[in-house]
Amino acid sequence: MAAPLSHDRLISILKAEGVKIAEYPGWRDRERDDETGKPFGPVHMILNHHTAGTNSLATVAKNGVAGLPGPLAHIHLAKSGLATLCSAGRANHAGAMAKNAYTSFLNEASTHPAPAKTSGTVDGNDVSYGIETENLGNGTDVYPRAQYDAWVRINAAFCREFGWSANSCGDHKETSVEGKIDPKGPVESYGTRGRFAYSGNQLRADVAERLRHVASWSPSTTVPPAPKPPTTDERITALEKRVAALEKGA
Ligand SMILES: [Zn+2]
Repeated sequence: MAAPLSHDRLISILKAEGVKIAEYPGWRDRERDDETGKPFGPVHMILNHHTAGTNSLATVAKNGVAGLPGPLAHIHLAKSGLATLCSAGRANHAGAMAKNAYTSFLNEASTHPAPAKTSGTVDGNDVSYGIETENLGNGTDVYPRAQYDAWVRINAAFCREFGWSANSCGDHKETSVEGKIDPKGPVESYGTRGRFAYSGNQLRADVAERLRHVASWSPSTTVPPAPKPPTTDERITALEKRVAALEKGA
């Protein structure tokens, strides 16, 4: 069981993990706890999203959308890698989670079943931190390197603070009973890895790797050199040894 972090603690864990942050004006007073009468927490997981739009900061941090008042996440993550703090309280991001999927994150299971509505539902806004990552979500819009690197750091910052494993990091599509598809799309690169498709499993693997290092760690971006082919002399020597072995009747 983990109580939600204070505003200042949220800032300090993100900074320690090397995340560039901004504070959306008024974010310290913006949450959905009072309005709904449902206090945020205890928290048990992180839920990752794509915004399915551009210039979505004000929508996520404050304005919300028709039928869904803001804030729509705790953190908005821009393409530049800048994380803007939107709320430290209850936010409208998760909707209903399938109980079977949620339980797998709660228990930090190594696999996560497809969300089944028949297993029951939980209010995801009670129990999860939400990150809205700016991307069109059309399958071609790319998450730049700086954005994905910050995404891994933010997820790791929560896990490190609460003592959770990377199996506490989920995708909206992995919990939603409302047909959500986010997040998805190509990632430019990460560490020494070139372009790849975003997946929850890859994010969890990258968060797990981060958690094996100190918070200030950065992944190497140097591609290791390919092994050198043997020189002509080395090949001749190897051939001579084989001939000698054959002559001995080996
Ligand atoms: Zn979402």
